[in-house]
Amino acid sequence: MRKLFDFHGGIHPAEHKHLSLDGPVTEAGIPPELVLPLAQHIGAAAEPVVAVGDRVLKGQLLAEANGFVSVPLHAPSSGTVTAIEERLIAHPSGHTATCIVLATDGRDEWTTLEPTADYRALEPDALRQRIRNAGIAGMGGAGFPTAVKLSPRPGSQVQTLIINGTECEPYITADDVLMREQAAELMAGVQILRHLLQPAQTLIGVEDNKPEAIAALRAALPAAPGAEIVVFPTKYPSGGEKQLIEILTGKQVPSGGLPLDVGVICQNVGSVAAIHDAVIHGRPLISRITTVTGEAVQHPGNFRVLLGTPMSYLLARTGYRMEKNRRLIMGGPMMGFAVPDASVPIVKTTNCLLAPTEAELPTPPPAQACIRCGLCAQACPASLLPQQLFWFARGKEYDKLEQHNLFDCIECGACSWVCPSNIPLVQYYRASKAEVLQLRRDNERAEHARLRFEARQERLAREEAEKLAKRAARKQAAEMRARATVQGSEPVEDPIQAAIDRAKAKKAAQQAGADNPAGELEKLEKAVVTTRARLDTATSKLEQARAEGSDLVEALQAGVEKTRTKLAAAEAALQNFQQANTSVPAAAAAVDPAEAAIQKALQSRQAEAQLSPEDKTRDQLGKLEQRLEKSRARLADSRDSGEDPKIIDALEATVTRLEEKRAALLAELPAPEDA
Ligand code: SF4
Ligand code: SF4
Repeated sequence: MRKLFDFHGGIHPAEHKHLSLDGPVTEAGIPPELVLPLAQHIGAAAEPVVAVGDRVLKGQLLAEANGFVSVPLHAPSSGTVTAIEERLIAHPSGHTATCIVLATDGRDEWTTLEPTADYRALEPDALRQRIRNAGIAGMGGAGFPTAVKLSPRPGSQVQTLIINGTECEPYITADDVLMREQAAELMAGVQILRHLLQPAQTLIGVEDNKPEAIAALRAALPAAPGAEIVVFPTKYPSGGEKQLIEILTGKQVPSGGLPLDVGVICQNVGSVAAIHDAVIHGRPLISRITTVTGEAVQHPGNFRVLLGTPMSYLLARTGYRMEKNRRLIMGGPMMGFAVPDASVPIVKTTNCLLAPTEAELPTPPPAQACIRCGLCAQACPASLLPQQLFWFARGKEYDKLEQHNLFDCIECGACSWVCPSNIPLVQYYRASKAEVLQLRRDNERAEHARLRFEARQERLAREEAEKLAKRAARKQAAEMRARATVQGSEPVEDPIQAAIDRAKAKKAAQQAGADNPAGELEKLEKAVVTTRARLDTATSKLEQARAEGSDLVEALQAGVEKTRTKLAAAEAALQNFQQANTSVPAAAAAVDPAEAAIQKALQSRQAEAQLSPEDKTRDQLGKLEQRLEKSRARLADSRDSGEDPKIIDALEATVTRLEEKRAALLAELPAPEDA
């Protein structure tokens, strides 16, 4: 005999389950119109893959999963897509949401299905993908995507697989009849999950108020060797995931944690049956069993309903007496909520449609002040402090609500049920959770915006720094190029030394000529021949111009004279060289122009050395201004002629540098009034 545990709190409300347990599950039929919300689950809404006007077959994909935590949506029957639009949905706030509207054709024509011959041959991921493709989301009412729940974190071990057949909420019997009528499929589904998760133990938990279901399960149990049926006393809310885990294993899921934190995965019996259909037959989730009950319906019972069926269509099949019904509730009396209108559709999580009379489920009387009786805390299965949560919720003290584990509240309503002051405690918690979640979303959005802003600022600063660095590098390179390419207008550090260097270079060149008389002679002779040829050309052009009476005669005459002078110089140089290299080589040294230049530069240095510091500065300033003038002229020419921007950059840098030097020299001189 397995040892059973108990959870804190809990209550024993009247069950009213007998109302809907008279007959077998009935097919609800095909309504003329199906309204299929894209979000019938927790997570991102599915993305339509059909368009208005498309004809679709039963089981055909209508919308695909839009992210990891999402599930696809399929056509519950054959027909034509007539709209994809906002429609009223079953939601406590009376929301609208995007729905695919399907006009059924009554033929109920299936698309081609892909059954699995042997699921044991499939890899776990492929098996999970089949479950995901079938669009299964927690059918106990939570709506969490089943494939996601069956994807344990890497490294985590599933010790216990729990099949939840508890169905603890009053009135609801959908799981009860499913266990009675589909025990064999259920056990086959259990085997698929055991193959997928390889748990050490598999427990099928059922409350002792379902004897027929327990008998059916026991009869089918041999098909699931290794699984164990565990029956335990009825108490509300034993069907809560954390409460069921505690009853069957004695383990408590930590606050804010998941069942897998204690090695457990739970699946509702409805989801397990859907997994069986998906894997064995390739059938997607397109219908579910829904209990229709309450004293405002004449023929309560359980119905196999196509998803998207309007509640009004289903109610019409049960002898619904609208005049007797004050509130139409989706779910049970404890955790359900009133729907805004009977036109809203049945979705994957609709386990019950409750139509009570006023006498059966009276409107709660006005709330009174809390008398601090503590009954709510005694009843709370999550070991919370409902009274404190109530105060924090009223004061909108969100931090304190979270500190007091608001999100561990499973919204079972046990606290409200026991409260002698009729305070609708659970309504406060639901509203507060929505507000906290909205606040979190707002904060996340603000944080996201802040991070994006900071990232942008960082990027701009980085780009600016890179731009400055490039500019500095360009400027430096330009200055270097300017020194190299604009040498003529460039200052040298010591102009006298530069003159000496130039003279020495000239002398060395001459010396090279002296060292190679034959080469030098050839060069000079060539110069004479070339210049003579130019003179001949210029002379013939002049004579032609004179014959034609051209205006160019004067200019050509000047050119002829200039060339003739050059020719004379070239002939003289040749003659001098020939004389120097045949008779008196030493005579050349006596008239060496290079040596003369050196002497001149040395004299200039000596003269400069004798200047006072102020005169020396003025002298430097004068020379600098000459260079500055030349550099500015060169820059202006360069700009006017549209020269290479690199050259212009270099010239600008040179002008700037000379201006800085000029300013520095001016600063060294006494002010005009001191002079
Ligand atoms: S509704 Fe929340 S606070 Fe109230 S009893 Fe249930 S779990 Fe506890
Ligand atoms: S049960 Fe109601 S009256 Fe009693 S402490 Fe809780 S909130 Fe107050």
